[in-house]
Amino acid sequence: MEWYLEPWFWFLMIIAVMFIAVAVQSKFKKTFKIYGATPNSSGKSGAQIAQELLTKNGIDYVKVVSGNKKLGDNFNPTNKTITLSPEVYGSASIAAEAIAAHEVGHAVQWHKSYVGIKVRDFFMPVAKAGSVVAGSTINIAFMIIFFGSLFFGSIPVFSVWMLAIGAVGLAAVALFQIVTLPVEFNASARASKILANNGYTGTENQDANGIKKMLNTAAMTYVVAVMQSLVQIMYLLALIMTMRRN
Ligand SMILES: [Zn+2]
Repeated sequence: MEWYLEPWFWFLMIIAVMFIAVAVQSKFKKTFKIYGATPNSSGKSGAQIAQELLTKNGIDYVKVVSGNKKLGDNFNPTNKTITLSPEVYGSASIAAEAIAAHEVGHAVQWHKSYVGIKVRDFFMPVAKAGSVVAGSTINIAFMIIFFGSLFFGSIPVFSVWMLAIGAVGLAAVALFQIVTLPVEFNASARASKILANNGYTGTENQDANGIKKMLNTAAMTYVVAVMQSLVQIMYLLALIMTMRRN
């Protein structure tokens, strides 16, 4: 059989991508640590910067509040709120500047009815359902396959179907993760631009370089999440094809 149809090949890929994910996570943590400790040149906190950038973009209906979850920064279009984590809200660091501006980028996307955000919101309930389906079918299917082959020397056909349903659920999750990528990249591009346009970054200060590094490493965590879903799906598909053949 072709190597790319072999379950073991995709199993090794899952392991490999897991290592990549750990590397990307630690790179992000390291970058956050460095730029979280580097003061930005305006001397303003994440909350102040977010508020100012909102105003400068003509958005007066979004409020900026402090959350309590680390890395829990987000823009919620339902209650029109940017929630900044404690590490961002009160900090006048380059990391806080980058993340605050990124969340404003999401608010601007919403304000300007950016099409990417509509596509993503359309797929969100699909992904939630997919995640529930995958979570409940795949583990049970693996258990049935394991005990079936251990005690009865055979695999019940419905467990193969369960794996197939699980793969479809994962595919829905992957689809959502993929349509999230352009939204995230776009929010970061907007962040860099509005910071530059409003004089937070410029040729006379070093903020721009740090902001770029922060936003790029954050974007990598989204890319690696897509990779993780895709290799899991490929593994399940290879497994299903192998089991159907036997
Ligand atoms: Zn984002």
